[in-house]
Amino acid sequence: MSPVAIVWPCPLAVDAYAAAGRDLGFPRPDCPSCAGPLVFWPGYRRYVREAGRYWKIFVPRLRCARCGVSHALLPAFTLAWQLDVAETIGSVVGEVVAGGGCGVRPAAQRAGVPYTTARGWVRRFRARAAELGVAFAAVAVELDGQAVTPQPSSRVKSPPPTAHPDPAPTDLFANPPIPT
Ligand SMILES: [Zn+2]
Repeated sequence: MSPVAIVWPCPLAVDAYAAAGRDLGFPRPDCPSCAGPLVFWPGYRRYVREAGRYWKIFVPRLRCARCGVSHALLPAFTLAWQLDVAETIGSVVGEVVAGGGCGVRPAAQRAGVPYTTARGWVRRFRARAAELGVAFAAVAVELDGQAVTPQPSSRVKSPPPTAHPDPAPTDLFANPPIPT
């Protein structure tokens, strides 16, 4: 079977993660497929680009004896198969798609990444937007939040009575107020 990536909520920034190398206390979650125990397996090194700087980081791998599948344990600032950190990709996609209609080229320049790379992110995001929206809405509901249906058109003048005061796409993540 092909390897699978597990993303873990690493609290470290890229530089601190890179400096820690193999000595970082990596988590050892259960197998995402069968919930069986995972054991550490030889990891690998890869590059990560953040703000124009390249870092070589260690990525541990875990293997499930039951499934026979190895899982790369990626820190949350990385994405599988992407050189750039998640924050860079998110900022470019956000500026172009979710934000004020910024062009890909200026967004790429601001992020310090090649135009063609940024264009690829935006295209893939657009192609998968509906799927991602459904997935995030599911997560919001699972976390006891409320999935707000985005408006069919941005030209809708008055918000429906049940809508959040600011019906932006981020409302997919809207959570109810925490009782005090
Ligand atoms: Zn397994």
